Amino acid sequence: MIIILKPDTDKTSPEFLQLRDYLDNLPNIKVRMHEVEGAQQRLTEFYLVGDTMSVNADDIKNFVVVERVFRVSREYKVLGRHNDDIRESYFDYNGVRFGQDELHVFAGLCAVDNPDHVEIMMRAVSELGLECTRMGAYKPRTNPYSFQGHGKACLPYVFELAGKYGIKVIAMEITHDVHIDEINQALEDSGNPTGVMLQIGTRNTQNFELLKAVGRQKNHPVLIKRGFGITLEESLNAAEYLASEGNHNVIFCLRGMKTNMGDPHRNLVDFAHVPVVKRLTHMPVCIDPSHSVGLRESDAQGILDIMHATTQGVIAGANMVLVDFHPNPSKALVDGPQAMLMDELEWFLQDIDIARKAYLERKALAEKMTSLRR
Ligand code: PEP
Ligand code: MN
Repeated sequence: MIIILKPDTDKTSPEFLQLRDYLDNLPNIKVRMHEVEGAQQRLTEFYLVGDTMSVNADDIKNFVVVERVFRVSREYKVLGRHNDDIRESYFDYNGVRFGQDELHVFAGLCAVDNPDHVEIMMRAVSELGLECTRMGAYKPRTNPYSFQGHGKACLPYVFELAGKYGIKVIAMEITHDVHIDEINQALEDSGNPTGVMLQIGTRNTQNFELLKAVGRQKNHPVLIKRGFGITLEESLNAAEYLASEGNHNVIFCLRGMKTNMGDPHRNLVDFAHVPVVKRLTHMPVCIDPSHSVGLRESDAQGILDIMHATTQGVIAGANMVLVDFHPNPSKALVDGPQAMLMDELEWFLQDIDIARKAYLERKALAEKMTSLRR
């Protein structure tokens, strides 16, 4: 059961304390409070877990500080959409809004290799008006002898260059909870010039202890990749782990499924699930065309398969694109064969604009048609 309080409820007021006391005395119920700090107002929510069938929702509605009460009807208690659920489907982080109505492109390096490449990438991104990028410092590799990423050694120059080029959010995968501390320390040492979105990779989607650790921190939002060999439901439950620990600022990323049915692509593109995840949950949905398609083949017009896959996701309403670029892919230490070239970035963004406009037109048409039906 979820209880939403009236905006800006004072938590020292007797009315609030009365409700808190009532909830704390409900038998066999655990109460978790969650605060949503919006640009205009602060919302307080209570999540009740346990034997909620015995709780009378009408009694709770009678408390003056309560705006709305609803029962959680199915899975994904925190992140899921439920009947009468008026919670927002966006969050703000470091001045950037992420939500089910937004679209952000995170073009960047799969793996940080040297400061020159980081700078070339960030300069290109900022010249084209983007404020986000991707930078891999900790790389989970199939082969133990492959390059594992520069780790914390590269963070000082990555963050410093982000500040120089006005990058507000860097998506960065972590594979261990100590990486959170390393990132926080490096951010602090460099004067917090940028924000970091912590990425959980597909290989770690069901690393529950890592999910719990990342969910417990609230400094950074989390980008969780769909597991490449598990059901959508299992991956959404993994995302719910993050929220159940307290961090509700979660973005879900589709990145293709592992099967040779997708050959010659690296994975089978699953972007038809963009509207499914938006329907089932409040999470913004990201697509990763690079790790889905995994190669630089193109059609007769020169449109890369990666671009086709991207526009398929965007025209279906994707809210974020995570994509690999590299100044010199043949020298890239990780995933060179799928990296797009620097001179393709502007074309890529224009192609995305076409698909985004088409999505917005489709959305307007659907709204018109459904209102006519009523
Ligand atoms: C990545 O984005 O760098 C990555 C390793 O992706 P995935 O976890 O989807 O394979
Ligand atoms: Mn990669």
